[in-house]
Amino acid sequence: MKKIAILGITGSIGISTIEVVRQHPNEFEIVLASSNNNYSKLLEFAVEFNIPELVITNSALKQKIIDIPNNSNLAFGEDELQRKIESVDCDIILNAISGSAGLRSSITTISKGTDLALANKESLVMAGYKMMEMLENSNTKLIPVDSEHSAILQAIGNSTPDEIRSIIITASGGPFRDLPLNEFENITLEDTLKHPTWDMGAKITIDSATMMNKGLEVIEAHWLFHKSYDDIKAVIHPQSIIHSFVEFVDGSIVAQLSFPTMQIPILYALTHPNHIKSTINRTNILDLPNLNFNELSIERYPLFDIALNAGIQGGILPTVLNASNEAAIDLFLDRKICFTYISRIVEKQINKFHNFQDPSIEEIININKNVYIQTKQNYKNLI
Ligand code: NDP
Ligand code: MG
Repeated sequence: MKKIAILGITGSIGISTIEVVRQHPNEFEIVLASSNNNYSKLLEFAVEFNIPELVITNSALKQKIIDIPNNSNLAFGEDELQRKIESVDCDIILNAISGSAGLRSSITTISKGTDLALANKESLVMAGYKMMEMLENSNTKLIPVDSEHSAILQAIGNSTPDEIRSIIITASGGPFRDLPLNEFENITLEDTLKHPTWDMGAKITIDSATMMNKGLEVIEAHWLFHKSYDDIKAVIHPQSIIHSFVEFVDGSIVAQLSFPTMQIPILYALTHPNHIKSTINRTNILDLPNLNFNELSIERYPLFDIALNAGIQGGILPTVLNASNEAAIDLFLDRKICFTYISRIVEKQINKFHNFQDPSIEEIININKNVYIQTKQNYKNLI
């Protein structure tokens, strides 16, 4: 039995992980789980899986909860989550918290030396350099959960970075890949939250519509696979069947494919480097649709280019990118700005920020918070 912790158990990735655990009752035991607001679902899972350690990061909910399962210890707050990560006896921690709130848990896991199955790509975007530095002196194995990075990991196998010429990351193109550009002004929140191939949390669904998600994934791939930005490309692949390609120096290209379900990369992250028997996710090749690939248009997806440039410049800029994007998304969810203002706000915040290299984790956390607050307060001057 592998002992696992699931941070963000109530979200889209968390619930897909629950499905994987349900299908493999003899493989995994959940020893720690967290949610932020959704305490009822967390407690439901605690009873179903007999989870001993629970954390609700939103401390304000402390007064509301009266019915704690008999066999569970429940704690509140972000600091308490870090303490539980440090003290829990477990084999692998799956970080499925959304956004910059996931960074501290990634850092604590690496400091502790426990394996980290990482869905929270924002950790690597903000602190990739520091995380790589820490991993050199840690027993942690970092395994991506993101479907594209899971595909790349599988395609690479035992090859070394100098055997790889390039990485080609696929993107569905989101709900607006065929929308005439002159109609972008009229995009609604409801249109944006309807992803054509994946069912995900609100933030990543909006990031997929703007293609910020692909920019974040290129930065994620840069850190995970030690390739320069020149050697990482993104292409539109509307069917989301091929999850990425790796091109080798001898001209061979290896791809990984399956029908789009996050259960496959989640299961692989929990069992890496082995593939274990599973009946849930078979893909019949004869059922596959025709596969297409198109160039990613910067005119349609300006945020992809903005994200890529922030990644190339490095330092604190990817944190500014991520924080201003999170603020712009929250403004869009609150219906305070329209869809096209998301990229405008992020671009303006990045352009006025004075970059510096090698920020500490404390600087990253503080600047992330300040840029988020400042973007939300000042958005009218940024559009
Ligand atoms: P969701 O919004 O569906 O879920 C987020 C989870 O994080 C919930 O459990 C939520 O708790 C918790 N959470 C939210 N805010 C905080 C906070 N401030 N502190 C602690 N916990 C918090 O997101 P997804 O599952 O879609 O995405 C999670 C991560 O995985 C993201 O980084 C995303 O980019 C990545 N990812 C997701 C994919 C997907 O298919 N969904 C695919 C690839 C990567 P509560 O429910 O209580 O609010
Ligand atoms: Mg992805």
